[in-house]
Amino acid sequence: MATDATTRRRPRLLVVVAHPDDETFGCGSVLLYAAAAGAVTGVVCATRGEEGSPAPGVDVPAEGLGALRERELHDAAALLGVSEVVLLGYRDSGMDGAAPPGSLVAAPPDDVVGAVRKAVTAFDADVVVTLDASDGHRDHARMREATVAAVEGLPVRVYLHCLPRSLMRRWLAHHAGGDAAASYEQFPDLGTPDELLTTVLDTSEHLPRREEAIAAHRSQTSPFEGLPDDLRQAFLGRDHLIRAVPAWDGGAQEQSLFAEEISLRERS
Ligand SMILES: [Zn+2]
Repeated sequence: MATDATTRRRPRLLVVVAHPDDETFGCGSVLLYAAAAGAVTGVVCATRGEEGSPAPGVDVPAEGLGALRERELHDAAALLGVSEVVLLGYRDSGMDGAAPPGSLVAAPPDDVVGAVRKAVTAFDADVVVTLDASDGHRDHARMREATVAAVEGLPVRVYLHCLPRSLMRRWLAHHAGGDAAASYEQFPDLGTPDELLTTVLDTSEHLPRREEAIAAHRSQTSPFEGLPDDLRQAFLGRDHLIRAVPAWDGGAQEQSLFAEEISLRERS
């Protein structure tokens, strides 16, 4: 048999993000899901997150927050079963204001596309996941644009990791003390419209390890901090994605990232 487990190539999934913690706060369960499915996984991180806000009580070392966050990235990646972590060496742009020299948004867009393409090719990725940037962070948006552009002509599928609008409305309602209507009138565009989601993964079995990886980012306050259990489960036990490449042409939502890809390879 040419397609038994010993000859089948393991799929390779690469998460491409802007800052240390994006791989865990965003895609931690996808990385665990992929590793459990037999995939080899990697993380490409554009910056060291120098512009992040240290959590209360965190002592920033003399070498700076970026050095601390880089260590946290490696710690979290080890917990998530990641084989390879690559930093692209840009500087964190921060949320707004003038982009610092050397920062991700100050770099020529083609340079960022080239750096991502090089990393995707070197890793020999089959599937690439990045954030959809519906949170409005300019570095997240830059990495989404660069990632989609970087795979042109490559046999690679790209997924955007999303926070569905329905879930963000529950999150807003929680923070507004239960007044859901008032909260989402104020932020009507928060999250990704649910009808755009193409792929939903049940990753609930990976929640305990995901929590360990979240805790490894000690210098940062996680966006899930202080949520009641049901909301925490809703955010961390299920992953919602949009397949951006190849473009989705309708049909039933996918519930896996690999089955079809493996069968395509078997046929080729
Ligand atoms: Zn980020």
